[in-house]
Amino acid sequence: MSGLRVVDLRSDTVTRPTAAMRAAMAAAELGDDVFGDDPTVNELQRVVAGRLGYEAALFVPSGTMSNLCALLSHCQRGDEYLVGQMAHCYRWEGGGAAVLGSIQPQPLAQQPDGTMALADLEANIKPDDAHFARTRLLALEDTWGGRVLPMDYIEAATALARRHGLATHLDGARLFNAAVAQAGPGGDAWGQARRIAGHFDSVSVCFSKGLGAPVGSALCGSRELIARARRWRKMAGGGLRQAGVLAAAALHALDHHVERLAEDHANASLLAEGLQGLPGVTVPPAQTNMVFVDLAPDKAAGAVERLRAAGVLCTGLYRLRLVTHLDVGRDDIVHAVRVLREVL
Ligand SMILES: *Cc1c(COP(=O)(O)O)cnc(C)c1O
Repeated sequence: MSGLRVVDLRSDTVTRPTAAMRAAMAAAELGDDVFGDDPTVNELQRVVAGRLGYEAALFVPSGTMSNLCALLSHCQRGDEYLVGQMAHCYRWEGGGAAVLGSIQPQPLAQQPDGTMALADLEANIKPDDAHFARTRLLALEDTWGGRVLPMDYIEAATALARRHGLATHLDGARLFNAAVAQAGPGGDAWGQARRIAGHFDSVSVCFSKGLGAPVGSALCGSRELIARARRWRKMAGGGLRQAGVLAAAALHALDHHVERLAEDHANASLLAEGLQGLPGVTVPPAQTNMVFVDLAPDKAAGAVERLRAAGVLCTGLYRLRLVTHLDVGRDDIVHAVRVLREVL
Protein backbone atom coordinates (compact mmCIF):
# COMPACT_ATOMS: atom_id res chain seq x y z
CA MET A 1 0.00 0.00 0.00
CA SER A 2 1.03 3.61 -0.47
CA GLY A 3 2.53 5.49 2.44
CA LEU A 4 -0.20 8.14 2.28
CA ARG A 5 -1.04 9.38 5.77
CA VAL A 6 -4.78 9.05 6.30
CA VAL A 7 -6.81 11.07 8.80
CA ASP A 8 -10.34 9.69 9.05
CA LEU A 9 -12.75 12.47 10.03
CA ARG A 10 -15.91 10.93 8.54
CA SER A 11 -17.48 10.21 11.90
CA ASP A 12 -16.78 9.53 15.57
CA THR A 13 -18.14 6.02 14.90
CA VAL A 14 -14.93 4.92 13.14
CA THR A 15 -12.92 4.43 16.35
CA ARG A 16 -11.46 1.01 17.21
CA PRO A 17 -11.47 -0.24 20.78
CA THR A 18 -8.29 0.68 22.69
CA ALA A 19 -6.05 -2.03 24.17
CA ALA A 20 -7.47 -1.31 27.64
CA MET A 21 -11.01 -1.57 26.30
CA ARG A 22 -10.24 -4.89 24.60
CA ALA A 23 -8.75 -6.16 27.87
CA ALA A 24 -11.95 -5.17 29.70
CA MET A 25 -13.99 -6.98 27.03
CA ALA A 26 -11.84 -10.11 27.29
CA ALA A 27 -12.19 -10.16 31.08
CA ALA A 28 -15.97 -9.59 31.16
CA GLU A 29 -18.15 -12.03 33.07
CA LEU A 30 -20.89 -13.25 30.76
CA GLY A 31 -24.33 -14.83 30.81
CA ASP A 32 -27.43 -14.97 28.63
CA ASP A 33 -28.89 -11.47 28.65
CA VAL A 34 -32.23 -12.57 27.21
CA PHE A 35 -32.63 -14.49 30.49
CA GLY A 36 -31.37 -11.37 32.31
CA ASP A 37 -28.32 -13.40 33.32
CA ASP A 38 -25.44 -11.35 31.95
CA PRO A 39 -23.80 -9.67 34.95
CA THR A 40 -21.86 -7.19 32.82
CA VAL A 41 -24.94 -6.03 30.91
CA ASN A 42 -26.81 -5.73 34.21
CA GLU A 43 -23.94 -3.70 35.67
CA LEU A 44 -23.85 -1.38 32.64
CA GLN A 45 -27.61 -0.81 32.85
CA ARG A 46 -27.38 -0.12 36.59
CA VAL A 47 -24.42 2.26 36.18
CA VAL A 48 -25.75 4.29 33.27
CA ALA A 49 -29.25 4.61 34.76
CA GLY A 50 -27.88 5.52 38.19
CA ARG A 51 -25.40 8.10 36.95
CA LEU A 52 -27.99 9.80 34.74
CA GLY A 53 -30.64 9.75 37.46
CA TYR A 54 -33.06 7.17 36.04
CA GLU A 55 -34.66 4.07 37.57
CA ALA A 56 -33.68 1.72 34.77
CA ALA A 57 -31.80 1.32 31.51
CA LEU A 58 -31.72 -1.09 28.59
CA PHE A 59 -28.63 -2.00 26.57
CA VAL A 60 -29.47 -2.05 22.86
CA PRO A 61 -27.40 -2.78 19.75
CA SER A 62 -27.72 0.70 18.20
CA GLY A 63 -28.92 4.24 18.68
CA THR A 64 -31.55 3.67 16.03
CA MET A 65 -33.01 0.73 17.95
CA SER A 66 -32.83 2.73 21.17
CA ASN A 67 -34.85 5.61 19.71
CA LEU A 68 -37.27 3.16 18.10
CA CYS A 69 -37.86 1.32 21.39
CA ALA A 70 -38.37 4.70 23.09
CA LEU A 71 -40.91 5.88 20.52
CA LEU A 72 -42.76 2.56 20.62
CA SER A 73 -42.80 2.61 24.43
CA HIS A 74 -44.06 6.18 24.74
CA CYS A 75 -46.57 6.14 21.88
CA GLN A 76 -49.40 3.90 20.72
CA ARG A 77 -50.68 3.36 17.21
CA GLY A 78 -52.27 6.63 16.05
CA ASP A 79 -50.20 8.79 18.39
CA GLU A 80 -47.73 11.37 17.14
CA TYR A 81 -44.47 12.90 18.31
CA LEU A 82 -43.16 16.41 17.78
CA VAL A 83 -39.66 16.26 16.35
CA GLY A 84 -37.15 18.39 14.46
CA GLN A 85 -37.27 18.31 10.67
CA MET A 86 -33.58 17.31 10.65
CA ALA A 87 -33.63 15.22 13.83
CA HIS A 88 -32.11 11.75 13.67
CA CYS A 89 -35.18 10.01 15.11
CA TYR A 90 -37.32 11.44 12.34
CA ARG A 91 -35.18 11.86 9.25
CA TRP A 92 -32.36 9.37 9.58
CA GLU A 93 -33.97 6.21 10.90
CA GLY A 94 -35.81 4.94 7.84
CA GLY A 95 -39.21 6.06 9.10
CA GLY A 96 -39.10 3.25 11.67
CA ALA A 97 -41.63 4.79 14.05
CA ALA A 98 -44.21 5.01 11.25
CA VAL A 99 -43.32 1.70 9.59
CA LEU A 100 -43.07 -0.43 12.70
CA GLY A 101 -45.18 1.51 15.21
CA SER A 102 -47.90 3.30 13.22
CA ILE A 103 -46.69 6.40 15.02
CA GLN A 104 -46.98 9.63 13.08
CA PRO A 105 -44.11 12.08 13.23
CA GLN A 106 -44.96 15.80 13.33
CA PRO A 107 -41.70 17.28 12.04
CA LEU A 108 -41.08 20.96 12.76
CA ALA A 109 -38.56 23.39 11.30
CA GLN A 110 -35.43 23.87 13.36
CA GLN A 111 -33.56 27.11 13.95
CA PRO A 112 -29.86 27.14 13.05
CA ASP A 113 -29.06 26.18 16.67
CA GLY A 114 -31.21 23.06 16.42
CA THR A 115 -34.11 24.32 18.52
CA MET A 116 -37.74 24.28 17.42
CA ALA A 117 -39.54 27.53 18.25
CA LEU A 118 -41.70 27.14 21.37
CA ALA A 119 -44.59 28.78 19.52
CA ASP A 120 -44.30 26.11 16.78
CA LEU A 121 -44.34 23.35 19.37
CA GLU A 122 -47.39 24.80 21.08
CA ALA A 123 -49.24 25.40 17.80
CA ASN A 124 -48.70 21.79 16.74
CA ILE A 125 -50.05 20.09 19.84
CA LYS A 126 -53.39 18.87 18.52
CA PRO A 127 -56.67 19.24 20.35
CA ASP A 128 -58.47 16.10 21.51
CA ASP A 129 -60.51 15.62 18.33
CA ALA A 130 -60.99 12.59 16.10
CA HIS A 131 -59.58 14.48 13.12
CA PHE A 132 -56.11 14.46 14.60
CA ALA A 133 -53.49 12.04 15.74
CA ARG A 134 -52.99 12.18 19.51
CA THR A 135 -49.92 14.30 20.28
CA ARG A 136 -48.07 12.24 22.86
CA LEU A 137 -44.37 13.03 22.88
CA LEU A 138 -41.74 15.71 22.35
CA ALA A 139 -38.40 14.40 21.06
CA LEU A 140 -35.29 16.61 21.25
CA GLU A 141 -31.70 15.89 20.23
CA ASP A 142 -28.51 17.03 22.00
CA THR A 143 -25.98 17.58 20.55
CA TRP A 144 -27.58 18.31 17.21
CA GLY A 145 -25.16 18.79 14.30
CA GLY A 146 -22.42 19.27 16.88
CA ARG A 147 -24.36 22.06 18.60
CA VAL A 148 -25.26 22.07 22.25
CA LEU A 149 -28.89 22.76 23.10
CA PRO A 150 -29.08 25.72 25.52
CA MET A 151 -30.17 24.66 29.03
CA ASP A 152 -32.87 27.33 29.24
CA TYR A 153 -34.35 26.01 25.98
CA ILE A 154 -34.40 22.43 27.29
CA GLU A 155 -36.13 23.67 30.44
CA ALA A 156 -38.70 25.73 28.56
CA ALA A 157 -39.48 23.14 25.87
CA THR A 158 -39.86 20.22 28.29
CA ALA A 159 -41.94 22.37 30.66
CA LEU A 160 -44.22 23.28 27.75
CA ALA A 161 -44.53 19.59 26.85
CA ARG A 162 -45.41 18.64 30.41
CA ARG A 163 -47.97 21.43 30.67
CA HIS A 164 -49.74 19.81 27.71
CA GLY A 165 -49.44 16.27 29.10
CA LEU A 166 -46.75 15.19 26.63
CA ALA A 167 -43.94 12.83 27.51
CA THR A 168 -40.38 13.83 26.63
CA HIS A 169 -37.52 11.89 25.01
CA LEU A 170 -33.96 13.01 24.40
CA ASP A 171 -31.91 11.52 21.60
CA GLY A 172 -28.64 11.99 23.47
CA ALA A 173 -26.45 10.00 21.10
CA ARG A 174 -23.86 12.68 21.92
CA LEU A 175 -25.22 13.74 25.32
CA PHE A 176 -21.73 13.51 26.84
CA ASN A 177 -20.29 15.87 24.23
CA ALA A 178 -22.95 18.40 25.24
CA ALA A 179 -22.29 17.83 28.94
CA VAL A 180 -18.50 18.16 28.62
CA ALA A 181 -18.86 21.34 26.56
CA GLN A 182 -21.31 22.90 29.03
CA ALA A 183 -19.36 21.84 32.12
CA GLY A 184 -16.25 23.57 30.78
CA PRO A 185 -12.61 22.79 31.62
CA GLY A 186 -12.34 20.86 34.88
CA GLY A 187 -16.14 21.01 35.26
CA ASP A 188 -18.44 18.23 36.43
CA ALA A 189 -19.39 16.59 33.11
CA TRP A 190 -21.43 13.82 34.75
CA GLY A 191 -23.27 16.36 36.89
CA GLN A 192 -24.14 18.30 33.75
CA ALA A 193 -25.22 15.14 31.89
CA ARG A 194 -27.53 14.35 34.80
CA ARG A 195 -28.93 17.90 34.81
CA ILE A 196 -29.75 17.65 31.09
CA ALA A 197 -31.21 14.14 31.39
CA GLY A 198 -33.25 15.20 34.42
CA HIS A 199 -35.60 17.16 32.18
CA PHE A 200 -36.65 14.12 30.13
CA ASP A 201 -38.73 11.00 30.72
CA SER A 202 -36.25 9.01 28.67
CA VAL A 203 -32.83 9.48 27.16
CA SER A 204 -30.87 7.45 24.63
CA VAL A 205 -27.07 7.57 24.75
CA CYS A 206 -24.62 6.03 22.26
CA PHE A 207 -21.46 4.25 23.37
CA SER A 208 -20.25 3.76 19.80
CA LYS A 209 -19.77 7.43 18.93
CA GLY A 210 -17.43 9.74 20.81
CA LEU A 211 -17.14 7.28 23.71
CA GLY A 212 -15.25 4.90 21.43
CA ALA A 213 -16.98 1.57 22.13
CA PRO A 214 -17.47 -0.74 19.15
CA VAL A 215 -21.23 -1.33 19.55
CA GLY A 216 -24.18 -0.25 21.61
CA SER A 217 -26.48 2.33 23.09
CA ALA A 218 -28.58 2.57 26.22
CA LEU A 219 -32.14 3.74 26.71
CA CYS A 220 -32.81 5.14 30.19
CA GLY A 221 -36.21 5.75 31.76
CA SER A 222 -38.66 4.65 34.42
CA ARG A 223 -38.84 0.96 35.33
CA GLU A 224 -42.20 0.74 33.61
CA LEU A 225 -41.03 2.39 30.39
CA ILE A 226 -37.93 0.21 30.23
CA ALA A 227 -40.01 -2.93 30.75
CA ARG A 228 -42.06 -1.96 27.69
CA ALA A 229 -38.88 -1.12 25.75
CA ARG A 230 -37.46 -4.56 26.59
CA ARG A 231 -40.40 -6.21 24.83
CA TRP A 232 -39.91 -4.03 21.75
CA ARG A 233 -36.18 -4.74 21.73
CA LYS A 234 -36.86 -8.47 21.67
CA MET A 235 -39.45 -8.05 18.92
CA ALA A 236 -37.00 -5.98 16.86
CA GLY A 237 -34.43 -8.74 17.10
CA GLY A 238 -32.23 -6.86 19.54
CA GLY A 239 -32.24 -9.43 22.35
CA LEU A 240 -28.57 -10.43 22.48
CA ARG A 241 -27.10 -13.32 24.46
CA GLN A 242 -23.57 -12.95 25.92
CA ALA A 243 -23.75 -9.21 25.27
CA GLY A 244 -21.56 -8.50 28.28
CA VAL A 245 -18.56 -8.64 26.00
CA LEU A 246 -19.95 -5.45 24.43
CA ALA A 247 -21.31 -3.98 27.65
CA ALA A 248 -17.79 -4.24 29.12
CA ALA A 249 -16.54 -1.91 26.40
CA ALA A 250 -19.33 0.54 27.19
CA LEU A 251 -18.58 0.41 30.93
CA HIS A 252 -14.93 1.04 30.21
CA ALA A 253 -15.91 4.00 28.02
CA LEU A 254 -18.12 5.50 30.73
CA ASP A 255 -15.23 5.37 33.19
CA HIS A 256 -12.41 6.48 30.87
CA HIS A 257 -13.73 8.27 27.78
CA VAL A 258 -16.19 10.89 28.99
CA GLU A 259 -13.99 13.72 30.29
CA ARG A 260 -11.51 13.19 27.44
CA LEU A 261 -14.17 14.35 24.95
CA ALA A 262 -12.77 17.81 25.78
CA GLU A 263 -9.71 16.80 23.71
CA ASP A 264 -11.93 16.08 20.70
CA HIS A 265 -13.60 19.45 21.16
CA ALA A 266 -10.22 21.22 21.37
CA ASN A 267 -9.12 19.40 18.21
CA ALA A 268 -12.29 20.45 16.40
CA SER A 269 -11.66 24.08 17.38
CA LEU A 270 -8.06 23.79 16.22
CA LEU A 271 -9.31 22.44 12.89
CA ALA A 272 -11.95 25.16 12.47
CA GLU A 273 -9.45 27.89 13.33
CA GLY A 274 -6.87 26.41 10.97
CA LEU A 275 -9.27 26.70 8.05
CA GLN A 276 -10.06 30.39 8.46
CA GLY A 277 -9.18 32.86 5.73
CA LEU A 278 -9.47 30.65 2.63
CA PRO A 279 -11.44 32.30 -0.23
CA GLY A 280 -14.80 30.60 -0.88
CA VAL A 281 -14.54 28.62 2.36
CA THR A 282 -16.61 29.46 5.45
CA VAL A 283 -16.03 27.59 8.70
CA PRO A 284 -18.25 28.39 11.69
CA PRO A 285 -16.66 27.86 15.11
CA ALA A 286 -16.93 24.31 16.50
CA GLN A 287 -18.94 23.88 19.72
CA THR A 288 -18.12 20.20 20.24
CA ASN A 289 -16.52 17.58 17.99
CA MET A 290 -17.93 18.57 14.59
CA VAL A 291 -16.59 21.03 12.07
CA PHE A 292 -18.68 22.13 9.11
CA VAL A 293 -17.01 23.67 6.07
CA ASP A 294 -19.24 25.62 3.69
CA LEU A 295 -17.82 25.72 0.17
CA ALA A 296 -18.56 28.07 -2.69
CA PRO A 297 -19.99 26.09 -5.67
CA ASP A 298 -16.70 26.24 -7.64
CA LYS A 299 -14.85 24.68 -4.68
CA ALA A 300 -17.49 22.11 -3.83
CA ALA A 301 -17.29 19.97 -6.97
CA GLY A 302 -15.44 16.77 -6.11
CA ALA A 303 -14.07 18.20 -2.85
CA VAL A 304 -14.69 15.01 -0.84
CA GLU A 305 -12.96 12.89 -3.50
CA ARG A 306 -9.99 15.26 -3.82
CA LEU A 307 -9.58 15.30 -0.05
CA ARG A 308 -9.79 11.52 0.09
CA ALA A 309 -7.07 11.23 -2.54
CA ALA A 310 -4.92 13.50 -0.34
CA GLY A 311 -5.63 11.38 2.77
CA VAL A 312 -8.33 13.35 4.62
CA LEU A 313 -11.61 11.47 4.84
CA CYS A 314 -14.81 13.43 5.45
CA THR A 315 -18.44 13.52 4.31
CA GLY A 316 -20.63 16.16 2.67
CA LEU A 317 -21.42 18.08 -0.45
CA TYR A 318 -21.50 21.92 -0.33
CA ARG A 319 -21.08 21.53 3.39
CA LEU A 320 -18.28 19.21 4.42
CA ARG A 321 -18.56 17.53 7.81
CA LEU A 322 -15.42 16.66 9.73
CA VAL A 323 -15.69 14.90 13.08
CA THR A 324 -12.91 14.56 15.65
CA HIS A 325 -12.67 11.48 17.86
CA LEU A 326 -10.56 9.19 20.03
CA ASP A 327 -8.45 7.91 17.14
CA VAL A 328 -7.22 11.29 15.87
CA GLY A 329 -4.65 13.27 17.82
CA ARG A 330 -3.59 16.86 17.70
CA ASP A 331 -0.80 16.07 15.24
CA ASP A 332 -3.33 14.44 12.90
CA ILE A 333 -5.37 17.64 13.02
CA VAL A 334 -2.33 19.79 12.25
CA HIS A 335 -1.63 17.51 9.29
CA ALA A 336 -5.28 17.58 8.17
CA VAL A 337 -5.34 21.39 8.26
CA ARG A 338 -2.30 21.46 5.97
CA VAL A 339 -3.94 19.04 3.51
CA LEU A 340 -7.30 20.82 3.61
CA ARG A 341 -5.72 24.22 2.97
CA GLU A 342 -3.80 22.80 0.03
CA VAL A 343 -6.76 21.00 -1.55
CA LEU A 344 -9.36 23.72 -0.91
C1 LIG B 1 -25.75 8.04 15.26
C2 LIG B 1 -26.99 8.61 15.83
C3 LIG B 1 -28.08 7.81 16.14
C4 LIG B 1 -28.17 6.35 15.77
O1 LIG B 1 -27.15 5.58 16.19
P1 LIG B 1 -26.78 4.21 15.42
O2 LIG B 1 -26.06 3.48 16.47
O3 LIG B 1 -25.93 4.63 14.27
O4 LIG B 1 -28.04 3.56 15.01
C5 LIG B 1 -29.17 8.40 16.71
N1 LIG B 1 -29.20 9.72 16.95
C6 LIG B 1 -28.17 10.53 16.66
C7 LIG B 1 -28.27 11.98 16.97
C8 LIG B 1 -27.03 10.00 16.08
O5 LIG B 1 -26.02 10.81 15.78
